Amino acid sequence: MERAVYGAVVLAAGSGSRMNTKTAKQYLLLNGKPLIYYALRQFQDSEVEKIVLVVAQGQEDYCRKEIVERYGFTKVCAVVPGGSERYLSVHAGLKALDGIDYVLIHDGARPCVDQDILKRTMEEVARWQACVVGMPVKDTIKIVDEQQMAQKTPDRRMLWQVQTPQAFSYDLIRGAYDKVVASGEQTVTDDAQVLELALGRTSRLIEGSYRNIKVTTPEDLDVAQIFLKNVK
Ligand code: C5P
Repeated sequence: MERAVYGAVVLAAGSGSRMNTKTAKQYLLLNGKPLIYYALRQFQDSEVEKIVLVVAQGQEDYCRKEIVERYGFTKVCAVVPGGSERYLSVHAGLKALDGIDYVLIHDGARPCVDQDILKRTMEEVARWQACVVGMPVKDTIKIVDEQQMAQKTPDRRMLWQVQTPQAFSYDLIRGAYDKVVASGEQTVTDDAQVLELALGRTSRLIEGSYRNIKVTTPEDLDVAQIFLKNVK
């Protein structure tokens, strides 16, 4: 059998408003390197062959020079502007990729992704065509109403928190994204949901890591800094 070709979309087009910093979140320094460096480093060092980096409109040249060239990310084949919502940024990234069998979609705001997770994701997507990294939740989760009153307590054994990468057969997810973007659907927060909405298809959850956090609020930076202590 021919070897599968893997590509990646790495997202860094968010505004990072929950961080409350002047510098955009993706360029904040963590142990001396910009946050976005870390995810790109892991993809560069993996079996992935092509990476599309999605950045905020107007930051393409800066990122090409200060991130891609500066750190020698030779697998980055395009730096493209994203959209106003995550799913629009993913769509822009997917459109800039071709000639691949599988795509890994990753939040650049998850710098602690590692080679084990990437390897596992690539193996599992070849088996399932659609798979999502996550972890079982540790806390009890409540569903609340608008008054913040607890309404339901879902069985914790059935709950996973979803991370990235989320990986798919390229043709499958590209078709699903084209359809959902054309429909004007607004409430999408992850890629597996796009498959659910467009095609009624489910995805396999695979184990990521409790270290694979999304850096969203200031305290996440402290934690990420510790997890990344030994990452070059
Ligand atoms: O904060 P949120 O969960 O929406 O962001 C997850 C990832 O998606 C981040 O890496 C962020 O940069 C990216 N994103 C994007 N375009 C947007 C919104 C978020 O690329 N419009």
